[in-house]
Amino acid sequence: MSFDTLGLRADILRAVSELGYTQPTPIQQQAIPAVLKGGDLLAGAQTGTGKTAGFTLPILQRLMDNPRATTGKPVIRVLVLTPTRELAAQVEESITQYGKYLPLKSMVMFGGVGINPQIDKLRRGVDILVSTPGRLLDHVSQRTVDLSKVEILVLDEADRMLDMGFIRDIRKILALLPKQRQNLLFSATFSNEIKALADGLLNKPALIEVARRNATADTVAQKVYPVDRERKRELLAKLITDHNWYQVLVFTRTKHGANRLAEQLDKQGIPSMAIHGNKSQGARTKALSEFKSGKLQVLVATDIAARGIDINELPHVVNFELPNVAEDYVHRIGRTGRAGCEGEAVSLVCVDELKLLAGIERLIKRSLPKEIVPGFEVDPRIKPEPIQNGRNGSGGGGRGGQRQGQRQGQRRDGAVRVSADGGGNRRSSGNGNGNNNGQRRRTPA
Ligand code: AMP
Repeated sequence: MSFDTLGLRADILRAVSELGYTQPTPIQQQAIPAVLKGGDLLAGAQTGTGKTAGFTLPILQRLMDNPRATTGKPVIRVLVLTPTRELAAQVEESITQYGKYLPLKSMVMFGGVGINPQIDKLRRGVDILVSTPGRLLDHVSQRTVDLSKVEILVLDEADRMLDMGFIRDIRKILALLPKQRQNLLFSATFSNEIKALADGLLNKPALIEVARRNATADTVAQKVYPVDRERKRELLAKLITDHNWYQVLVFTRTKHGANRLAEQLDKQGIPSMAIHGNKSQGARTKALSEFKSGKLQVLVATDIAARGIDINELPHVVNFELPNVAEDYVHRIGRTGRAGCEGEAVSLVCVDELKLLAGIERLIKRSLPKEIVPGFEVDPRIKPEPIQNGRNGSGGGGRGGQRQGQRQGQRRDGAVRVSADGGGNRRSSGNGNGNNNGQRRRTPA
């Protein structure tokens, strides 16, 4: 199938073809006609599937097909809400690229940066606004944003927004929008909470689900390196140096762990930086752009901070520590091998994490190949210890500690959850009434 058959304007197709896309991805093939029809949409799709173009291209088309009645300053006709700053920036960048031949203005807004430049830009007029919920509400309370003319609402990565405790903010924002509008909801998973949100929000939505990347991640070579807890950093440095790995995205469970690892690698002469919710926006943007440009060899990230980072052809993902939630493994390795490119995902697994590994292998329905690096043989005398998750802090795009209580406790997205205590307490979540203690807590970014 080619893009030409989807009913998009020549000036949109031109921008798409200049980006080198020849064929619409499966989500685009389904979402573009559905959105063009004007109805609501409920789409199950992760980052890496091409979902951003899936909603952006038909939205641009609809805005052009139905010009505003009045001339003069643009008004906000499209609102895209995203869970994190990074994702907001990426979505807006895509809108700019796909709409480069159109007379439409887009803008991105998030917290952690000055509000005044945003106010100035809003005043000058914007057609498409991409924002994290918190900063948008800051503008609402200052009356610097007008949402009364919104025609299309997109909730991107809605499951993460709920995970990060944004549900109240989202409801506040929904109350400010005109009743008559088109709603598009994208989510990687469908928990009861997402279904409840969708039920209240969407009117007879078209339903689209594309294959999960874990089912089809044939382009990602996955490998486990068994190693002792205290020797992980040494092994990681060796792997990076021996194989000459560049653009390595490394996952840790905690912000503190991310900082420490980045510092240690950097000291060893491997240029590294950490990215997580406690970093200033400036530091995050700098780390990301240096990493994208190839200047920075290693980016160490927590799950929430890394969510939505879109880097084409990212060659290496390393799980320095396995995630507590098996499904996060799939999100993590989804950063590599995208759009048909080869990628490699390796996991450094110590004795504490064997139960987590078993949970991941059950979820992805395959056993991961194990390789012992000579000199790093596992010492059988070392006993498993409970996994430390660090102290709580604020989430990636979230507004800090008040949401911690909401994030603790049951897993909300229906993912298989594995006890992190090495005690074999494995259960499928989604029943929502489990006895959740701190050890099952989702670690904030
Ligand atoms: P997304 O899932 O929206 O984050 O997109 C993932 C990546 O796929 C982005 O880097 C896009 O630039 C790229 N992409 C989106 N659509 C296509 C397409 N039709 N063909 C090739 N690459 C695409």
